[in-house]
Amino acid sequence: MDKNNDESTLSNSYAEFDITKILADDVDDGVEFKRDVNEVYSLGPKILIWDEQRSEWSKRNQDFPNFIMANKPRVLLVTGSSPKPCENPIGDHYLLKSIKNKIDYCRLHGIEIFYNMALLDAEMAGFWAKLPLIRKLLLSHPEVEFLWWMDSDAMFTDMAFELPWERYKDSNFVMHGWNEMVYDQKNWIGLNTGSFLLRNCQWSLDLLDTWAPMGPKGKIRDEAGKILTRELKGRPVFEADDQSAMVYILATQKEKWGDKVYLENGYYLHGYWGILVDRYEEMIEHYHPGLGDHRWPLVTHFVGCKPCGKFGDYSVERCLKQMDRAFNFGDNQILKIYGFTHKSLASRRVKRVRNETSNPLETLDTLGLLHPEFKAVKWAASRCWATLYDKGECIWEVVN
Ligand code: UDP
Ligand code: MN
Repeated sequence: MDKNNDESTLSNSYAEFDITKILADDVDDGVEFKRDVNEVYSLGPKILIWDEQRSEWSKRNQDFPNFIMANKPRVLLVTGSSPKPCENPIGDHYLLKSIKNKIDYCRLHGIEIFYNMALLDAEMAGFWAKLPLIRKLLLSHPEVEFLWWMDSDAMFTDMAFELPWERYKDSNFVMHGWNEMVYDQKNWIGLNTGSFLLRNCQWSLDLLDTWAPMGPKGKIRDEAGKILTRELKGRPVFEADDQSAMVYILATQKEKWGDKVYLENGYYLHGYWGILVDRYEEMIEHYHPGLGDHRWPLVTHFVGCKPCGKFGDYSVERCLKQMDRAFNFGDNQILKIYGFTHKSLASRRVKRVRNETSNPLETLDTLGLLHPEFKAVKWAASRCWATLYDKGECIWEVVN
């Protein structure tokens, strides 16, 4: 076995980790394109009629209604981190990458974003902090239909995948998970609370009230942890966490909540990093963004890495390397829009994948990420995309 990859020789401590190990990009590989220094620097081909090009583009596209919002509920994505800096210096850099990644996805999908750094209730520190926050946001934003919680250690790896909103029309709470594992086995990893949707309604407020009592830190959380470890399958001994508490609630009160809970496994609303990150190259070779499932996962979640803490459950080197790869995998889909890509999934550097043109508006947006007309075709759930306001007449039909 390659000594460097032998997990047993690697440390889970962020304090002991030599960060230069994963900064391979800092080594000059000497193959960088060198500009002819005798030529005057240029940003690209000279563009002389941008105003005309732009106005012509607007005319071509003005008839399209706002497709981004046409067939989906109003969504607020909520994430956050502790009010203090991370317990290891590199952690804050990964928080930055993580929020940049979420901003990109949300911008492309017409989703608002809220980043929280305030501990709203001192008793509900750590993984329980999301509960008081979510309640506050639901009540303060009646215009929001779905709140989408996402952990800071989860990243979007499919920038093109749109959630199947239609599927959730009768559900109030959507998590990644499996019915049998939750309801039959009471398995503590039968669902994941690192990325979920919660509808803004009375039912959800009631659920939060049922969910919260195991949260207060100290004796209550410790004692509740013992119950959860005793009652749930596979759970290690530790204080009560929000995920185990949810499995426990659903498994013991299925009649009360079950019919409004959707455990999704048709795509990765949450995807465990351990089974995904080593397959990114294979995915690139065989598939394309927009699939969301094992072929191109919507979310890669670094469960157990604790990148903002002192210690994780896995080697720091593997966690950080793989977080970089996940970030770059997602970021390539963004950079591609602008004609760039990371040199490799391990590289922070980028290279051009298209020549600059003097008519940039002719460049096709192949993933349909930038301009709604392409999205309209891609996201179509029904034959008719938009109806004439008040008349119900179909004005945009799906072409294929
Ligand atoms: N979190 C937060 N404030 C905190 C601690 C955590 O908002 O003070 C968020 C953060 O987004 C994190 C999530 O809560 O990803 C879950 O917390 P946990 O400590 O369980 O981290 P994880 O399970 O994601 O490693
Ligand atoms: Mn997490």
